[in-house]
Amino acid sequence: MKILIKNKDINEALKKVSNLGFVPTMGSLHKGHEYLIKQSQKRCKQTLVSIFVNPTQFNNKKDYLSYPKNLKKDLNILKKLKVNFVYIPNKKDIYSFKRKKKIILKKENKVLCAKSRKGHFEGVIDIMDRLTNIIKPNKIFMGEKDYQQLLLVKKFIEKKYEIKIVPCKTVRNKNKLALSSRNQLLDKRDLIKAGKIAKDLFHFKIFLRNKKKTKSLLQKKKELLKKKFDIKIDYLEIRKKNNLKSSSTIRNSKIFIAYFINKVRLIDNF
Ligand code: AMP
Repeated sequence: MKILIKNKDINEALKKVSNLGFVPTMGSLHKGHEYLIKQSQKRCKQTLVSIFVNPTQFNNKKDYLSYPKNLKKDLNILKKLKVNFVYIPNKKDIYSFKRKKKIILKKENKVLCAKSRKGHFEGVIDIMDRLTNIIKPNKIFMGEKDYQQLLLVKKFIEKKYEIKIVPCKTVRNKNKLALSSRNQLLDKRDLIKAGKIAKDLFHFKIFLRNKKKTKSLLQKKKELLKKKFDIKIDYLEIRKKNNLKSSSTIRNSKIFIAYFINKVRLIDNF
């Protein structure tokens, strides 16, 4: 496994590599990341994983500073998985050039996390553009766990580059809780609670199957979850799978949730 830090290391190491799979991460790796890596290894000759906690996608400095980091453990995981390259850039190199065209989200895209985390996806798209430009992979593997991110990045990258974004299913623990680096910030009781919320929403999705008007049911569910689990809900919405437009039925749609347990913000979709 080659560890690459500088952009010139990348150019040198990847000179003769064809069919490269790229898995971008912010580290604190878990089985969700491992699944993405395995998908890349199945479909590509070589795999590169990046670890970079991107400051520009955090709309809150405290959140950025408290984001879990564990480079030593991450490198052990990647070694065991026989990843070919790990790219650990530093901020200075990544942001050494100014972008020509500012990234601006269309009004129609300012929903869900784009509404509540101002500047977040602009930061995500910008970093994905920079990393793609440096690495020039053939395929990029991204998780459906961050569904809105996946759709926005896919649209931008596939329009600009001849690269495919490969969506990968959400990996969950035995309690149905979606794995996330942020789960490390929760204690055991809160992890169990988050699992119960996920299970509840899986059942709710089945319940919604034949319902034509879901708006009031959704509102009721929101109040119920707030009371039952003592959480703050940022949003609980049903939106179309392909374009995230608002939807009144669950057909071709998903349930999206963002909520806080204590001060930790979790997102999921069903
Ligand atoms: P992160 O390190 O959280 O920025 O995530 C890096 C990539 O892993 C993103 O494409 C995420 O969508 C994906 N990912 C995170 N959690 C999971 C999960 N539980 N299952 C599948 N993919 C995930």
